[in-house]
Amino acid sequence: MLAVGLVTVALVLPGPVPALGATATPAAASATAITGAASHVPRTVVSLTFDDGDADQMAAARVLHRYRLPATFYIITGAVGTPGYVTRSDLHQLAADGNEIGGHTVSHLRLTALSTAEARRQVCTGRSILARWGYPAGSFAYPGGADSPRTQSIIRSCGYSSARGVVGLRAPGCPGCSLAETIPPANPLTLRTAGEVDSSWTLRDLEHTVTAAERDGGWLPLVFHHVCAGRRCGGLAVRATMLDTFARWLAQRQRQGTAVRTVGQVIGGPVVGRPVRSTPHVAAARPHRIVNPSVESVAASGAVSASLETTSAAPARTPQCWMQGGYGHNTARWQRARDSHAGGWAERLTITSYHSGDAKLLPQFDLGECSLPVRPGRSYTLGAWYQSTARTQYSAYYRTWSGRWVYWTSSPYFPASQGWAQARWATPPAPAGASGVSFGLALFSKGSLTTDTYSFAATPPDAARRIAGWVLLSVLAAAGLAAAGRAVRRRRRPANPVPVEGKRSTSSSSSR
Ligand SMILES: [Zn+2]
Repeated sequence: MLAVGLVTVALVLPGPVPALGATATPAAASATAITGAASHVPRTVVSLTFDDGDADQMAAARVLHRYRLPATFYIITGAVGTPGYVTRSDLHQLAADGNEIGGHTVSHLRLTALSTAEARRQVCTGRSILARWGYPAGSFAYPGGADSPRTQSIIRSCGYSSARGVVGLRAPGCPGCSLAETIPPANPLTLRTAGEVDSSWTLRDLEHTVTAAERDGGWLPLVFHHVCAGRRCGGLAVRATMLDTFARWLAQRQRQGTAVRTVGQVIGGPVVGRPVRSTPHVAAARPHRIVNPSVESVAASGAVSASLETTSAAPARTPQCWMQGGYGHNTARWQRARDSHAGGWAERLTITSYHSGDAKLLPQFDLGECSLPVRPGRSYTLGAWYQSTARTQYSAYYRTWSGRWVYWTSSPYFPASQGWAQARWATPPAPAGASGVSFGLALFSKGSLTTDTYSFAATPPDAARRIAGWVLLSVLAAAGLAAAGRAVRRRRRPANPVPVEGKRSTSSSSSR
């Protein structure tokens, strides 16, 4: 089964939040104490951080709100409102309850695997979108925990005050690490954490991590992903019941001088020397051809899969700038194939069991390094060579201003072909608001499909006019048929509805 990922602005900050790190005075501490009015500076501070904006985190937010514990939610803007993720209205609720909204890029790609230009777009544009939604984010978390000196300078230049990783403090994988981060942290752009809380953590592990940090005091950021209930608990999830018990216990630790604060409350603005007031404008990607069109080179993918914020790079098997896409219930296998149309390699997709949906190779859903910048209203001609045991068709997606990828349209079918055949198709005009496009030849039955030598170009204007004419004629013809159909249905029972190909849902994704 697969499903892939996925997956701009003046900024005005509200009044500065007192910073524990910068001004650790009793007044500063109590001014932001949502955990209850602490009358002294907390010796130990715990930050509850949630990555990705998974929809199930709203259950955690309700639990924490009950105990008046604020949390930091790191949001992937391009995922907001897609299946499995929080909505704009959820974000509003989180902020209204005193939680912090932080940035986690637009497309949740590993920043270290991207060009500097794309990494800047991912970080700065994500922050601008949050600001436009009303959340002046000062805190950032690295997708996949992947940071480097280069990414840290990008984070700073985009105006963030802090950036959180996923390792560095004492955890099962790091027995010799420190028990807590310092306040202020030695490097706010690589905040350390005690690993990631997953399903292997017990309540005792959580409590022990806190009491260990209390020994010398300091800051303990905890990293959570999914929140689950019942039998449906994945590997990177914490049970809502366990979180409830932990939250109740944690709220009572204030008596021991342990407080719960958002990351922004601990860091504050002045820690990095200047208040964060704006996000620099970052230019959109220029139009370009398909990158790595003959799928010759492979590279560690920027994609962070299955919600794993692991620090190890993804295996370098997927062609550089491409991603394995699809949705629904089917089992897809991907292979590098030697029987290529051009160059040394092609990509073979085999579906071994099929119930619904499709699978396809697509240019990476990003902000323009791999996906294709487009102009609304223009038609584009898609091309690829293929060999297939089953029929195929193009499925195309476009990117909205907030980085969300939306199903756009599908081509007519191309027949199964034993030898190499070319599939060429001119799209209808790109929809209003589309800034980027990604497309792939889809397999939607058992069988295999090998593809190579992709192309993408703006359709010449006269051809585009003809296509627009055909589209208009088809719409008029369909309207005429529909009117005739309604007249017929008045006299007899309707036939069983036939699903319309190409009206499938988007392949927005399961996994970050
Ligand atoms: Zn993430």
